[in-house]
Amino acid sequence: MIIDGKQIAAKVRGEVAQGVKDLLAKGIQPGLTVVRVGEDPASAIYVRGKRKDCEEVGIRSDEHHLPATTTQAELMALVAKLNADPKVHGILVQLPLPKQLDERQVLDAIDPRKDADGFHPFNVGALSIGIPGTPRPCTPAGVMRMLDEAKVDPKGKRALVVGRSNIVGKPMAAMLLERHATVSIAHSRTADLAAEVGRADIVVAAIGKAELVKGAWIKDGAVVVDVGMNRLDDGRLVGDVEYSAAAKRASAITPVPGGVGPMTRAMLLVNTIELARRAAR
Ligand code: NDP
Repeated sequence: MIIDGKQIAAKVRGEVAQGVKDLLAKGIQPGLTVVRVGEDPASAIYVRGKRKDCEEVGIRSDEHHLPATTTQAELMALVAKLNADPKVHGILVQLPLPKQLDERQVLDAIDPRKDADGFHPFNVGALSIGIPGTPRPCTPAGVMRMLDEAKVDPKGKRALVVGRSNIVGKPMAAMLLERHATVSIAHSRTADLAAEVGRADIVVAAIGKAELVKGAWIKDGAVVVDVGMNRLDDGRLVGDVEYSAAAKRASAITPVPGGVGPMTRAMLLVNTIELARRAAR
């Protein structure tokens, strides 16, 4: 089975659009504010995509585009202003920030109740200890939704997450653990990655290295989720898993493109509308 992220993301957007209508009927217009600093071309494309998604489902989106020379104090002042603005339900600071700015300090300053990306330490902790209803990082939340849609129950399964970043690997492992998988995390110092992959019933690859996970390593019937997005010299976009060989062994697999990417975008909308609902309560 190919787990079609585009299709599931469209379903999620439909749910959010309905949720927006319900909020509008109560006089609440959900709003996401994106802060972008400098001229990073990839960031400009990502922000455009996020705002287009918002528009499609009826979430108001605003962008504050600051010059590359912005100081820490200026950026912190903007975050404080947005924290205090009741029309702003979700705040997203697009990363990476220019070198002179301290990313951690900025993310920590966002009110956790407006943290659209789920990166604030309070929300990271909430995920870790199981406080419900807090915003969660979009990529792993999107992966969980894909597993649910594919009727893959992690309970009792051996799950391997390859990668331990704060935005993907670690929260992914926490969410699989919450759903009762037996979770391992592999990283660049893992001694025998092939053996770890070969034991796993569910493999989530979030590495950032083209086709590092070989198809031959995959256990027969395993579920494979490929978070990686790697642009090859010939322009092709490939994942972290050797797709065609892995697809022959896996019972279900996500493609790249058209897998986790669209889900990440859709889950930002889910987080925003949830933050608006909570603010209304
Ligand atoms: P990071 O670079 O922050 O983390 C990569 C992780 O992979 C690190 O934990 C690193 O280990 C590990 N790693 C590196 N080399 C190896 C190796 N040879 N064997 C095992 N593990 C290794 O990346 P992100 O988590 O931010 O992103 C991962 C990938 O997912 C990227 O391709 C990114 O583009 C993509 N991505 C896709 C998204 C989507 O929506 N589809 C969203 C976010 C990311 P160590 O900690 O030891 O250095």
